[in-house]
Amino acid sequence: SAPARPAVPAVSPSSVLPARQGGEIRITNVSKSFGPLKVLDAVSLALRPGSVTAIIGQSGSGKSTLLRAINHLERVDAGFIAIDGDLIGYRQDGDTLYELKEKDILARRVDVGMVFQSFNLFPHLTVIENIVEAPVTVRGLPRAQAVAEARELLARVGLADKADAYPRQLSGGQQQRVAIARALALRPKVLLFDEPTSALDPELVGEVLDVIKELSLSGTTLVIVTHEIGFAREVADQVVFMEDGRILEQGPPSRVLTAPDHPRTREFLAKVL
Ligand code: ADP
Ligand code: MG
Repeated sequence: SAPARPAVPAVSPSSVLPARQGGEIRITNVSKSFGPLKVLDAVSLALRPGSVTAIIGQSGSGKSTLLRAINHLERVDAGFIAIDGDLIGYRQDGDTLYELKEKDILARRVDVGMVFQSFNLFPHLTVIENIVEAPVTVRGLPRAQAVAEARELLARVGLADKADAYPRQLSGGQQQRVAIARALALRPKVLLFDEPTSALDPELVGEVLDVIKELSLSGTTLVIVTHEIGFAREVADQVVFMEDGRILEQGPPSRVLTAPDHPRTREFLAKVL
């Protein structure tokens, strides 16, 4: 007869997912060019631990490049970024260059989760395998614990019954919720969303925004590039308007989205609202 399966250890939800204090992000004078095109032009921005920031602006204004710089998927040309005081990537300070080693960059990136417009799930892995992969390989969690945490996360995004499905068997909204669960599995201090609902059919947008809204109460620092102005108004502490690689305006949604100072912000809002 087959040997008995080892019992899955009982793990209480609170021990599975202890709250992770959000990270403080400081972006200081960051510039970045692609060839002759200046995509970020001396951008400075401070984000408090646990805050929710919405970045808005036209296509091509540099929003994705800024997000990618925060976890050093993009190397900046000047200025620097720190999370909880720890430098991300590199800093040129006068003649002195501080540059992290690749393995240190990878170690820091664990603190910064990212959710993309196009979900980016592994198509050949089931939902649960998609979520378990990084905690096992990156955090070194025992597989049983990673599976227990993944089930907990799936329940949190409303997909407890989809653990064994493959991504192609899910709707876009469900895939994006899996992608969020996968990002959470590394217990990030910071979670970056790059237009998380732009690829979704309109009727599926709400289910993803609801999950992000729930996360906004969790204490993780969130940065969300979005065209969902109503959502930004409801959830963000701070709205940042970008144009041509610069921050033209920032402040609480009640001001920036209702009575912006800058005429360009007004024009942009008139177009998207
Ligand atoms: P947004 O997210 O606001 O639409 P991006 O940050 O994606 O803007 O891009 C800003 C500008 O930089 C765009 O003009 C884009 O074409 C250009 N760009 C982005 N990535 C690259 C790259 N890897 N090489 C060359 N140009 C790029
Ligand atoms: Mg973009």
